[in-house]
Amino acid sequence: MQDVSQIAAWLAEATTTVAFTGAGISTESGIPDFRSPTGIWSQAQPVYFEDFLHSPAARQEYWRQKSIAHRDFAGAQPNDGHRVLAAWEAAGRLCGVITQNIDGLHQAAGSRQVLELHGTAREVSCLTCSRRWPADPWVDQFVATQVAPECPECRGPLKHATISFGQPLDETVLEQALAASRDCDLFLALGSSLVVHPAAGLPALAKQQGARLVIINREPTPLDGIADLVVRESIGQTLKQVAALAIRPV
Ligand code: NAD
Repeated sequence: MQDVSQIAAWLAEATTTVAFTGAGISTESGIPDFRSPTGIWSQAQPVYFEDFLHSPAARQEYWRQKSIAHRDFAGAQPNDGHRVLAAWEAAGRLCGVITQNIDGLHQAAGSRQVLELHGTAREVSCLTCSRRWPADPWVDQFVATQVAPECPECRGPLKHATISFGQPLDETVLEQALAASRDCDLFLALGSSLVVHPAAGLPALAKQQGARLVIINREPTPLDGIADLVVRESIGQTLKQVAALAIRPV
């Protein structure tokens, strides 16, 4: 309770607050994270971008994994954590969300300022001609045929519009995320194991530039030592309690 009051007080004092979210904010919507003991990587190894480009077998494995993950995404709804952040943005108390997530749940909750560092699984794109389509029909096609789909325009390989391991981030999005992290005075890191770079460097950058750093994550992270406050509780419950206590009404 003391932690919750502290976050509410810092939120009220801050002029520029940024939230940074990882897979942990969406577990309460039923989407598994990657690194928890029951996470996705306890069951399958990720497909690297280089392998996707050069190996038909890797493309097949990629689409197999994505078609399973897509089932989790398709029915998922935003939870309290997503909703509180959207409400804070609407009330002018949060500049926006930088997310590692690809599930689109921040936007579904009503957040407008969302930087998707790792892209979105709601769409697929052609790696040759860059055309994009909604992902659903392509996943359905893969489930029915078990054949990794090709672009109907140029026959290039289709892949979700997400950043795979070994694939460069979108530089414009990264620049915007770096600027937001540099310019804030309160940085909330929510549900990220903070081990994937460069995304995990953002909380450290915010802290170096003088922001307060709050980490809410069930498990320890490598940045706990530099945080002003670490809360090892559920994100949804904690944010809801902060919202209820917030000194200026949300
Ligand atoms: P991660 O799986 O590495 O870490 C998630 C962290 O959240 C863990 O440390 C876990 O202890 C914590 N956590 C889980 N549920 C929580 C809860 N309810 N309350 C508090 N803490 C909770 O996730 P990551 O660091 O975001 O990195 C994995 C990468 O995988 C991301 O970059 C993302 O692109 C991708 N991913 C996205 C989704 C999604 O879009 N929902 C899901 C899985 C993976």
